[in-house]
Amino acid sequence: MKRLSIPILALVFFTFCGVDAFAVDFVTMGTGGVTGVYYPTGGAISKLVNQKRKEYNLRMTVESTGGSVFNVNSLMNSDLELGIVQSDLQYQAYNGQGDWEGKPQKKLRAVFAIHPEAVTILAAADSNIKNVADMKGKVVNIGAPGTGQRVNALDLFQAAGIDPEKDLRIEGIKPAEAAGMLQDGRIDAFFYTVGHPNGSVKEAVAGARKVNFVPVSENLVQKLTAEQPYYAPAEIPVNQYPGVVNTENVPTFGVKATICSSSDVSEDVIYKITKTVFENIDELRKLHPALDVLTRENMLQGLSAPLHPGAEKYFREAGLIKK
Ligand code: GLU
Repeated sequence: MKRLSIPILALVFFTFCGVDAFAVDFVTMGTGGVTGVYYPTGGAISKLVNQKRKEYNLRMTVESTGGSVFNVNSLMNSDLELGIVQSDLQYQAYNGQGDWEGKPQKKLRAVFAIHPEAVTILAAADSNIKNVADMKGKVVNIGAPGTGQRVNALDLFQAAGIDPEKDLRIEGIKPAEAAGMLQDGRIDAFFYTVGHPNGSVKEAVAGARKVNFVPVSENLVQKLTAEQPYYAPAEIPVNQYPGVVNTENVPTFGVKATICSSSDVSEDVIYKITKTVFENIDELRKLHPALDVLTRENMLQGLSAPLHPGAEKYFREAGLIKK
């Protein structure tokens, strides 16, 4: 009989024991439109994770998707292993509110938080939209179903006493198309809940049609933050958008972008991803200007679903959570 070499014997042994020594875990992260911040952020995280692929036997890919609501639903269907989700929608999904009314998504798990997002309303200057009430009678893109901004726009209309069915014409187009449609005169304004700076707003302010950010009044912000625990006051920095009509930062309300997963995804995979990201925050911050604000501490804020056990394991090890 031909003698088997040691590596082959080892392989036979591991296979016999049910351990696949060569298994690679493939994970996909759902993000958002290509001109937002989720998509490049997903790319930045996967770059860090894939640098470790030999050591961890883990490979991450990124998908452009419809946004937060789409990502939650895909996580729950096991179509994605990771997804970027607004903190307000993480809360609503886990607690069975909003789009998930009466259907709490109990398998949803929080991994870590990333950048803050501002509910951003951008209008063509010639359509004279200076405040939220001025949107009445206009054509306003609130975002396609599946996006986070659609939910935030409807919350804002409700707080402002605007009936989206009767008082204005709403459109539901993807964020990547909104800037072009504003420039082409097909819409008067659009909503985007997004980190700054981002490609979509840059594209919108760079065209021939002048545009302005629409502020959300202090009264409305107070009403929204009092009614919903996940909203916070926010500001849009205008210096990141040369060409925009506004000269001062614009008040609005906002949320946080968070990385979510499902309780069906293994502890080992989420542990490795969390560890890699937290050990390379400085590099991550350099990969997109909206990520510049990240710290180990603020990356644990805005999480309302239970922590994924893999993330929790790393946070305990790193002394970021105690008890
Ligand atoms: N916040 C948006 C959403 O959940 C996506 C923003 C982005 O892609 O950066 O739909």
